[in-house]
Amino acid sequence: MSKVINKTLIIGLGLIGGSLAKALKLNRRFGQITGYDRNPDEVLAGLELGVIDSVATSLADAASEADLVVLAVPVKAMETVLVDIAPFVAEDTLITDVGSTKANVVNTARRVFKQIPPGFVPGHPIAGAEKSGVAAADEKLFDKHKVILTPLAESSSEAVKLLSDLWQSTGAEVLVMDVPKHDEVLAATSHLPHILAFSLVDTLAQEENHNTDIFRYAAGGFRDFTRIAGSDPTMWHDICLANKAALLEQLDCYMAGLHKLRTAIECSDSETMLGTFTRARAAREHFSRILSGTAYSQDMSNQQVTFRALPGGSVSGSIRVPGDKSISHRSIMLGSLADGVTQVSGFLEGEDSLATLQSFRDMGVVIEGPVDGNVTIYGVGLNGLQAPPGPLYVGNSGTSMRLLSGLLAAQQFDTELTGDASLTKRPMGRVADPLRLMGAEIETAENGRPPLKIKGGQALKGIHYTMPMASAQVKSCLLLAGLYADGETSITEPAPTRDHTERMLAGFGYPVQQQAATATVQAGGQLHATKIDVPADISSATFFMVAAAIAPGSDLTLEHVGINPTRIGIINILRLMGANLDLLNAREVGGEPVADIHVQYAPLKGIHIPEDQVPLAIDEFPALFIAAACAEGTTIVSGAEELRVKESDRIQSMVDGLKTLGINIEGTPDGAIIQGGRIGGGVIESHGDHRIAMSFCVASLRATDEIIINDCANVATSFPGFIELAKSAGIQVEKEVD
Ligand code: NAP
Repeated sequence: MSKVINKTLIIGLGLIGGSLAKALKLNRRFGQITGYDRNPDEVLAGLELGVIDSVATSLADAASEADLVVLAVPVKAMETVLVDIAPFVAEDTLITDVGSTKANVVNTARRVFKQIPPGFVPGHPIAGAEKSGVAAADEKLFDKHKVILTPLAESSSEAVKLLSDLWQSTGAEVLVMDVPKHDEVLAATSHLPHILAFSLVDTLAQEENHNTDIFRYAAGGFRDFTRIAGSDPTMWHDICLANKAALLEQLDCYMAGLHKLRTAIECSDSETMLGTFTRARAAREHFSRILSGTAYSQDMSNQQVTFRALPGGSVSGSIRVPGDKSISHRSIMLGSLADGVTQVSGFLEGEDSLATLQSFRDMGVVIEGPVDGNVTIYGVGLNGLQAPPGPLYVGNSGTSMRLLSGLLAAQQFDTELTGDASLTKRPMGRVADPLRLMGAEIETAENGRPPLKIKGGQALKGIHYTMPMASAQVKSCLLLAGLYADGETSITEPAPTRDHTERMLAGFGYPVQQQAATATVQAGGQLHATKIDVPADISSATFFMVAAAIAPGSDLTLEHVGINPTRIGIINILRLMGANLDLLNAREVGGEPVADIHVQYAPLKGIHIPEDQVPLAIDEFPALFIAAACAEGTTIVSGAEELRVKESDRIQSMVDGLKTLGINIEGTPDGAIIQGGRIGGGVIESHGDHRIAMSFCVASLRATDEIIINDCANVATSFPGFIELAKSAGIQVEKEVD
């Protein structure tokens, strides 16, 4: 049975005490609110303002009657108050405080109580204002703010629970941490910034000739930055002394950083300056993402996104779809390891490639951007990476984790690779095992899952590795490790996989030998900075190729699309179906073949899709199903069982969706049999699978009625700007966000 609070006593009726009293009085779950303050005018004002229900005239009486006592006095006054109340509080009275530092309050409580009572749970609301006194009390002060509770070994779990309830009732989010951690975190995030603000304003104010001007012309940024210098001086004096050790440590660390920056400015050391500024800017966003455990791109995960597509229309013009993801990842990796400055354009600003970018920033590489797909990488050379300040967080990106592990296994420093909850379930043994054969020291969690702890300073030796399963990620990981390994590293694949790493290594001037199914590298080479215009992703281009192929009157050019031989199944298959498709202006960029793809409408016919084309077009099948539904006759898909284990069971999702639209389709274990026909309208479930969502959007061009597609939030991650581009090409689709 949990304790019932009939009487709450708040000692110190200033800003924080008053605000808490007001909030508790409103929600009425913590009994009568009595106020006590050494300044009788404050409590009387509190009563008049309706902040409290009653005034305590005797602290001893009020403390003995209270079920809950909140100490809301300055930290320096905590001792006096604790001494005053200790003899009177009952054994099971809940006691908490709101002091901005915790170790000193706890030490004081230990001295006063001898034995800490089980109801004592220190706390600290991370909310405030530059005002003080009860007149400034605000019942909304804690709403959507954090409150830290620092329970002690003696604190009962019931007391912790009750105090969590109390703070939550004010709208606050409650965090629990231990006392030293609290003081360390607050020294860095609150106390240090206050000291900087006080010191900066004080320093500038003393500059004789300039002070009036400085403050008169101060821009908004200066005012924001120095706003906290308006805080209560006595309170901050007390806080500095109360949290002296942790604050001094933070101050020293900050001053070392400032000194480094000063030297960089003095020596016109642009690299250090840019490094500091770009890292700091990125770090703000990075840390908030890590804290929420979410994505690098805009987090849409909590939003319901629906596409609503009107029937009919055609596509025309010239468009460029976003950059290839695999190539975007590799451009950052090799650009960072190169000597010189690499300019990347067309970079895919998706969550996964941004995770790779952040990891290299964490390892000291100066990277500017991305701005409109443009990134500038100041390469540090193969041996120039630096130990990151903490674990490298790669979000949901399996590619980042697997490729980076090869590179990190060869560095001189230790690293840890972590990811979000879903990545943490994915197996990493397939890279860790062969890396260990090369001499790497890698620790994984159970069953080879992340995090990966990689020990630096190992001398890797080259191996010949025959992959048990075809995987471009494993091959790339070992090739990257091979850049540092003694002797030759060669990898043989059982079936062809994407060769973007080999091609880009060559693009950076690093020799890679390719013989049949084996790729070989040797250490000792050098990567030379280059310019990379990341080819547009052929998988993203597919939706528009199919759109133009099925919609009468269409005439569309897709610019600068990557046509790597391991990816062109979609072009081969559409041509076999009768599509009018030309490759124009074929060229090579950073080792990758690219072309402009020109598609004009032509009637399609059903075919049995050759199984040798299936692996070359595996991601393109949802869109191909739509092409098949618009073709004359029967299309048979076989040998594509992998489609059942993608982001959704893509065979089932497409069969269900096309049936809803009136198409005669039958799923098989490894594919489907699709009869071309008339596409109607209806509501489609995409099951959160971006490719299913985009495919049905394209289907609307040949539909007789509106198509509504549910659960489309993930489209933003793989294909930023899809709806805008689809509309500009002629698809009549709108996005609705709930
Ligand atoms: P405040 O507005 O100055 O209120 C403190 C009140 O306590 C004043 O009325 C003060 O009276 C009274 N008091 C001082 N010593 C006392 C004693 N021995 N017995 C009874 N009453 C006494 O200060 P506050 O901003 O609310 O801060 C209170 C606590 O909250 C501090 O521990 C502070 O560290 C913490 N805190 C403050 C903020 C913030 O932004 N303000 C944020 C989080 C936590 P006098 O005016 O006569 O001194």
